[in-house]
Amino acid sequence: MSKLLMIPGPIEISPKVQEAFAVPPPGHLAPPVIEAFGRSLERMREVWLAGKDSVPFILAGGGTAAMEMAAANLVECGDRVVVACTGYFSDRMSEMLRRLGAEVIEVRVQPGRRPEPGHLDEILEAETEQGPVKALFATHVDTSTGVRIDAGAYAAVAQKFDLLSIFDGVCATAAEEFRMEEWGADVYLTASQKAIGLPPGLALLVASPRAAAARSRLKQAPPMYLDWDVWRPIMDAYEARKPAYFSTPATNLILALDAGLGEILEQGMDARFALHAGKARELRERWEGLGLTRVPEDDDGAANTLSALYYPEGVDASLVGRIGERGVIVAGGLHPEIRDRYFRVGHMGYAMTQPEMLERTVSAIADALGVRSNP
Ligand code: PMP
Repeated sequence: MSKLLMIPGPIEISPKVQEAFAVPPPGHLAPPVIEAFGRSLERMREVWLAGKDSVPFILAGGGTAAMEMAAANLVECGDRVVVACTGYFSDRMSEMLRRLGAEVIEVRVQPGRRPEPGHLDEILEAETEQGPVKALFATHVDTSTGVRIDAGAYAAVAQKFDLLSIFDGVCATAAEEFRMEEWGADVYLTASQKAIGLPPGLALLVASPRAAAARSRLKQAPPMYLDWDVWRPIMDAYEARKPAYFSTPATNLILALDAGLGEILEQGMDARFALHAGKARELRERWEGLGLTRVPEDDDGAANTLSALYYPEGVDASLVGRIGERGVIVAGGLHPEIRDRYFRVGHMGYAMTQPEMLERTVSAIADALGVRSNP
């Protein structure tokens, strides 16, 4: 039996997605690719629960490319922006924004915590008195802490102060509840290797019409590969089922994306969010049964896509290797302040529909810890 990949991305993927992917590389002008590309753009709006005028982008790259695309199309030198810092990936976002020359106002918390929306509101009240603030950036689920922010409330705070709101959904999209149109969020971005359920290699982003319009007001164009205005005619063409070329799309991944989004929509978004919430709750109980404590401080702020768990007294990072020897691959710590004190278990997408995969994972961890697991 091959080892089970239970890290927070890449993840186990469905047989249907594997089948769609594992074909000899088609050209980007091949009719099945044109159809899959066009339908994937349409399906992204449905999975993102985004408005019909929202603008989806699919390009070869990872989550970092999607983050950079959002930043480079909305922020330029001298802009003031707020970043809710919940861990490693929001720190990366801050650094990207600083490199663009923005003044970055960071709202920092201890690992395992998240800024309360009321706290963001207070900070924005004070900061907007000093001068205009352009955007609020936040990580929906920070993969380094397993903390999920209250994205709907953050989007509402951003709207109150007339800010653009940008959410990194790399470890959340298609698993954690996110209602782009209803909440008035401006950008929601992800990568293919997480809850979307594909191999790594695609950067996926949906922009609101307001965000797309903000790009055209930039004084200087973003780097060409990241420029929404360069990519929009390509996306529009594929959506109209006509091929167009700017940079070669990852054709096998586009076929897989169409299949993966199709499976997600077959499940339905509400059912999908509920499945992740329910299974994650069960897993939290199992971790407690094994004597493991969690990095997120409260359950409301605990992600449904991964668990970040402290090593018990007397156990160190060698646990990760021992779990691996029992056939399940989990990940070590990532947040620099607590890196050696915890490990991470990914549980999103296909594995959440396969109870035996979750059971194998809990059993391997219990066995490696030398404790009994009671289902
Ligand atoms: N943001 C978050 C929340 C992530 O979890 C990751 C990847 N783990 C990234 C961004 C970066 O994605 P990638 O590794 O595909 O560049």
